[in-house]
Amino acid sequence: MDYYCSAKFTELQINVQGRLLYNCCKAYPERISVEWMEANPGRLFHTDTMLEDRALMLDNKPCASCHHGCYKYELQGLQSKRLLTKNKQQISNPDAPLKTLQIILSTDCNLACIYCSPQLSSTWVNEIEKHGSYTLNGQSIENDSWTTMWSRMKQKSRSTESKFFDLILNEIHLAKELNHIAFLGGEPLLNNQLIQSMDHVSDKTISITTGLGVSDTRLKSILEKVKGKKIKFNISAESTGKYFEFIRYGLRWSDLQNRIEMISKAGHEVKLLSVLSNLSLLDIHNFYKIYNERYPIEIQYLAGRNFLLPHVMDDKSKKACRENLAPLEDLAIPLLNSIKEDPTDHDRNNLASYLTQLASRRKLPIDFLPKHFLDWAGIDTTKIS
Ligand code: SF4
Ligand code: SF4
Repeated sequence: MDYYCSAKFTELQINVQGRLLYNCCKAYPERISVEWMEANPGRLFHTDTMLEDRALMLDNKPCASCHHGCYKYELQGLQSKRLLTKNKQQISNPDAPLKTLQIILSTDCNLACIYCSPQLSSTWVNEIEKHGSYTLNGQSIENDSWTTMWSRMKQKSRSTESKFFDLILNEIHLAKELNHIAFLGGEPLLNNQLIQSMDHVSDKTISITTGLGVSDTRLKSILEKVKGKKIKFNISAESTGKYFEFIRYGLRWSDLQNRIEMISKAGHEVKLLSVLSNLSLLDIHNFYKIYNERYPIEIQYLAGRNFLLPHVMDDKSKKACRENLAPLEDLAIPLLNSIKEDPTDHDRNNLASYLTQLASRRKLPIDFLPKHFLDWAGIDTTKIS
């Protein structure tokens, strides 16, 4: 195996709330302190761990953080960010300059997408506080003490106003070859410091990854404030109608469509990020019909919820996917590759348990899913209240 990955030499993600550094977004994080940053200005992309990891890579040896992010999936024959993005350039300097920075301002989010978690969305935290953890065979989805504490703090008193955030802005100014900054969430459009942060990085290209779980009024106000800036909006969506509203819980399908139009009409670039799962695969062909000609659609692969992986579906659903996706020709190849594997009973049972718990606590109808899919999974819709 060739362990090299250029992202290790160019990309950094900062989780402001957790004070975590990821080199890159998929890698295992390290925690960073204000004291270290004060003592090491301009070295945020060159911590001892990062330098050691890069040296290992150049020696063609695996490092633990990339095992967590990519290698372990590749060893199972699955896709990884490393394989998907391909390594275009070979960089041999562990001290290479930062090119791309991703900033997670906070985990405030009005949505609770089915693939998401309390660690990324405050709505997930609130739901688990109200209804308890999800219990599945071999795993659970629960609030940790950090996410609970964070969700109780007012946005105003949080770290974007803190010394830590000022130090990050300083690092951005010192990173002379940094050319792209991406704001991620939670929902970055809910964060009051987004506009302020963007003013500090006006000489870089900017992207915002959003689920569009904000009101029309707030979105309109943000678009007014960023008038004249060219921002790339990466919008998360992959299905339509009831599928969309189940998968991206908290947002109506019609609101998503209107908000995409608002952003597009304001002159910003739009890209759609579509997460492949068994549920989204059942409807993604309808999403492509509406948006494929208008905007680029990037496929993303989920991790950590094996029971939601695309192949965890019955044979009849797989056949329907093949037929529905056939008109997409080459575009369908990665989608169809994702359903090749046979599902295990373990994943099928966890799928049934997860969807039953989720639909019950959210009081969502689930009978829009094909009957053969529900029967195969063993989901009894009469038990969902
Ligand atoms: S191998 Fe994976 S986790 Fe490591 S830097 Fe590359 S893309 Fe990120
Ligand atoms: S919009 Fe993003 S952060 Fe919010 S729940 Fe969905 S995936 Fe999670």
